[in-house]
Amino acid sequence: MPDDSPNSWEARADASSFYGFTDLPTVHDRGTIVLTHGKGPYVYDIAGREYLDANSGLWNMVAGFDHPGLIRAAQDQYARFPGYHAFFGRMSDQTVMLSEKLVEVSPFDRAKVFYTNSGSEANDTMVKMLWFLSRAEGKPERRKILTRENGYHGVTVVSASMTGKPYNSVFGLPLDGFIHLSCPHYWRFGKEGESEAQFTARMAQELEDTIHREGPDTIAGFFAEPVMGAGGVIPPSAGYFQAIQPVLRKYGIPLIADEVITGFGRTGNTWGCETYDFMPDAIISSKNLTAGFFPMGAVILGPDLADRLQSAAEEIEEFPHGFTASGHPVGCAIALKAIDVVMNEGLAENVRTLTPLFEEGMARLAENPNIGEWRGKGLMGALEAVADKETKRPFDGSLSVSERIANACTDQGLICRPLGQAVVLCPPFIFTPAHMDEMFGKLEKALNGVFAEVA
Ligand SMILES: *Cc1c(COP(=O)(O)O)cnc(C)c1O
Repeated sequence: MPDDSPNSWEARADASSFYGFTDLPTVHDRGTIVLTHGKGPYVYDIAGREYLDANSGLWNMVAGFDHPGLIRAAQDQYARFPGYHAFFGRMSDQTVMLSEKLVEVSPFDRAKVFYTNSGSEANDTMVKMLWFLSRAEGKPERRKILTRENGYHGVTVVSASMTGKPYNSVFGLPLDGFIHLSCPHYWRFGKEGESEAQFTARMAQELEDTIHREGPDTIAGFFAEPVMGAGGVIPPSAGYFQAIQPVLRKYGIPLIADEVITGFGRTGNTWGCETYDFMPDAIISSKNLTAGFFPMGAVILGPDLADRLQSAAEEIEEFPHGFTASGHPVGCAIALKAIDVVMNEGLAENVRTLTPLFEEGMARLAENPNIGEWRGKGLMGALEAVADKETKRPFDGSLSVSERIANACTDQGLICRPLGQAVVLCPPFIFTPAHMDEMFGKLEKALNGVFAEVA
């Protein structure tokens, strides 16, 4: 029960905050958890309660909540040069160094980087780049954007239009010209008797049919997360990217990898496109780019798009786009350190070491008769609750099963996230086997408790 005295932190939060992406009945019943600090993978609320954050904040705090090297990088850069823009032919030395680093660690031989403050803005920026290119190359009708159902690309007007979630209809979105293809989730959407290979072939056929229906010369780009994150941690069906990429290439449609979650180690490699063995035309990065220590996003353009955009911009003498804080020196200094910490201080290695333990724990919990499947890659995973394992029938929505599981976890000091009828886990890269045990132990108790009530 929330403390409902008028001066409680819960009441103060309610009185002054308009909540986003928050289940209001849960907040009314339980109160907002007001957090004060963190230590390693734990966060602490105003009453001193400890929570193991199995979601890395919002997928992004991969180095935990008190990494001394990242704190020092921020402090040092604030002391040296606390802010500057990247307009009018000026930019900070940190911005130059981060771009060089991103080009170096990208899968591209050559690349160019453009900065934003968030993943949404990075996707918006990429769409503007594609539209800019279409006009410059004399194909102004080439504007439509292809994404997938359940794909998550952000919340600005354009990135929300790209996002394939039904809640965007409350805003009258998507905008025209944003087309959502099927979600490549074989377990849920495979047809009776259809093999996974047939399912993948159907996805590629749907893409080609859609291109024909819309007109190949009207499509500016295709955006995909290597593993869908906020859609419920959905890895693609086997061979998916190998099946769709030739179709896109055939029609000259750029493939943009939205690596906001999968970038920098989450799936066991630096990039999700490495894990799934495909070469995108550009990469969208954010979230763990700064290990969550600074709001920042980046568009990393592969050689072809970089060259074409450069010529298009030369023609009119500038690319008229940018944010006041694009390439912020403190964000860049933090990102440089975060990349170093993840890639060279054993964090990426730890993801690979812990992955078998994570998979083992997930597989064990998935033996529960009310878990339909577990799915995931590297250190991101989901357990899908079902009323009937045989038929994959979900629970009645009014039971709010995944919210109840997440709340039962919170009560034990574990943060995990309900998403549809799934529970999502996305632990920080600094987890130890002991943290894994704590996470799975608490989650198992929560699952058993809730399923005993509803099943
Ligand atoms: C979170 C996310 C975004 C949006 O990033 P914001 O910083 O919240 O705007 C875009 N794409 C993916 C894949 C994400 O997970």
